[in-house]
Amino acid sequence: MAHRTLQARLVLAVVIPIILVTASLYPIFRSHLAAKQDGAQASAEAMLEAGHESLQRGMGESVSLVLATAETPLLQHHLTPPEAAASHGDLASAGLADERLEAQFDTLLRHYARYTKVVLIDTQGRERLRVTRHTSPARPPLAVDHAEADYFREAMKLFPRDLYVSPPGRGRHSGHTGKEVVPVIDIATPVFGADGQRLGVLLFSLDWHYLTAGLRHSLSIDTNAQPVMIDAQGNWLLSMTTEPPFDIDYGDPIPTAFRESLATAERGQAEFDDHRIQFRTIDIRNLEHRGLAGMTHSLSDYHPWWLGVAMPKPDLATLLADDIAPLMILTLLYGLSVAFGIFWVLSSHRQLRLKWEAQQRAREVRDLYENAPCGYHSLDSSGRVVKMNHTELEWLGYRAEEVIGKRHYRDFVSPATRAAFDAGFRNVLGPSREGMAECELITRSGQALPVVIQGTAYTNRLGFVHSRAMVFDLTERKRLEETLARQAMTDPLTGLGNRRYLEDQAAKEIARAQRSGEALSLIAVDLDRFKRINDEYGHDVGDLVLQTFAETAKSRLREGDVLCRMGGEEFAILLPSTAKAQAMRVAERLRQAIETTPVPVGQDVSEDGLLHYTASLGVTLVMAQETNLKSAIKRADRGLYAAKEKGRNQAWWQAV
Ligand code: GH3
Ligand code: MG
Ligand code: MG
Repeated sequence: MAHRTLQARLVLAVVIPIILVTASLYPIFRSHLAAKQDGAQASAEAMLEAGHESLQRGMGESVSLVLATAETPLLQHHLTPPEAAASHGDLASAGLADERLEAQFDTLLRHYARYTKVVLIDTQGRERLRVTRHTSPARPPLAVDHAEADYFREAMKLFPRDLYVSPPGRGRHSGHTGKEVVPVIDIATPVFGADGQRLGVLLFSLDWHYLTAGLRHSLSIDTNAQPVMIDAQGNWLLSMTTEPPFDIDYGDPIPTAFRESLATAERGQAEFDDHRIQFRTIDIRNLEHRGLAGMTHSLSDYHPWWLGVAMPKPDLATLLADDIAPLMILTLLYGLSVAFGIFWVLSSHRQLRLKWEAQQRAREVRDLYENAPCGYHSLDSSGRVVKMNHTELEWLGYRAEEVIGKRHYRDFVSPATRAAFDAGFRNVLGPSREGMAECELITRSGQALPVVIQGTAYTNRLGFVHSRAMVFDLTERKRLEETLARQAMTDPLTGLGNRRYLEDQAAKEIARAQRSGEALSLIAVDLDRFKRINDEYGHDVGDLVLQTFAETAKSRLREGDVLCRMGGEEFAILLPSTAKAQAMRVAERLRQAIETTPVPVGQDVSEDGLLHYTASLGVTLVMAQETNLKSAIKRADRGLYAAKEKGRNQAWWQAV
């Protein structure tokens, strides 16, 4: 049981400190986490601005170059209809100009890696010149009809210096070659002649990956940061090949849930998986770095895009993983608090056990005191009971509250033995401090309880404090003593008193007779020819005769008469308050009774089953001056012998 309690307390000693430490540290970690999140957000914001700036600048530079190119006379010349060109010069010089234009484009593409191709289209949508990064030198124009292409149709509507910017190209894989096609942005601007005549459209394709490389670079300061760009249709505009969730390809649709979480606001935060994305919208129609550009046009449903920086959401685990110090402090705190808890439980458990053991011992001592086989009590200096054990209270038949502080112990002592009590304890307050008395206590029911009391005074510096006493019950001892005394004075065969008993009783009766002045008589009885009875009928019959005599004599005597067996077949009778005449009458009556009361010995002993016997008696007076029976017995015996001599079966008076 105690083992189970200890286990439960140990579990609590572990759990409670952990809960307390966690509860007290939680706000600290929360604020730490919040600060970390704020820091992450600020750095994401900064990265986002830098990325946005880089993209803007890239776009601005690209656009400026397109506009500058559109204004070169060579280009205008190239698009001028042949009939008009003819009026300007010869065909040979026209061919030379075309070559120079191709060479110029070629140089341009080689120096500006961001462009993948330049195409010159006439007003009919026919391709007039095409230079690509990988087909240098220029190849002949393809028989492609650009008339239906968005860049052509849109650019044809524009004024000088206006631009059309397409969304990044869709198809990643060329249908027939299976090769990955680099996503591009088409930038188209109308070409006008010197006379303001619309000559066609200049188309530049921009390598999207190249353009966004700057964006990636500006985010590379934080390894956890991921650039995110999403178009108005909800497609990823940047490929990412990092670990999930950003293991995505350019052009893939973003998950619906994420799309819904992107606010319609221009900037803000969105959650994606366990990442937080700091985003802003970007509209390439509002280019800040467009230089000489006029209006920038685009298909309106492709805008805006979302440009963002994704960072993993900081949590407690990453917070701790980032910095080992708090983790160590935390471990130390948990360890210390748990160790303290266990130490506390163990030490308090030990104390509890010691306390329990002490209580147990106190109970045992108390039990020993209360239920000892002897009485214990303590008295104050006035003899009033201040303490009494259960045993003694039980002997006396009182309850503790009736005695303690209320009764003087001396009151329990019987008046007869009070003197002995007082004498025994006269010196208990003296130098010996000890006392002892054998006396009788009177119980509640009025019975006398013989006891021996041993007391000691307990003193301290200031003097007497109280007395302590042990009380032993002498009832048993007294009873035993009485039994032994009775046995010592009783004849076992007849149950009558013996010679000692007679002497004991005689002392009392002589004293009483002396006090009262009354006569005291003594009769000696000897059965006649008893030897013969023994001889004839056996010892057993002799014994039976002795017993019969005892019964017969007892029944003829008074209450106060003392009948005893002196030995053999000799008896004595002490008759208080009896003078000569009366004593002789008693003797005679007794003699007759013996003679007429035969012993029932049974048919096998005598014919009628009865045995007649007689006795001789000597009667005398105990003299007033005699202090014992010695002389009286001698006299009675003399009377007895006289009776024998006279023929037995008679009573003889023996005068003094
Ligand atoms: P008498 O007194 O008449 O002169 O004759 P007696 O036969 O009685 O004489 P005595 O006193 O000499 O004999 C006493 C006999 O009593 C002797 C002994 O054997 C017998 N006796 C003594 N004590 C006992 C006893 O306790 N039981 C029995 N059965 N006999 C006893
Ligand atoms: Mg005799
Ligand atoms: Mg005899």
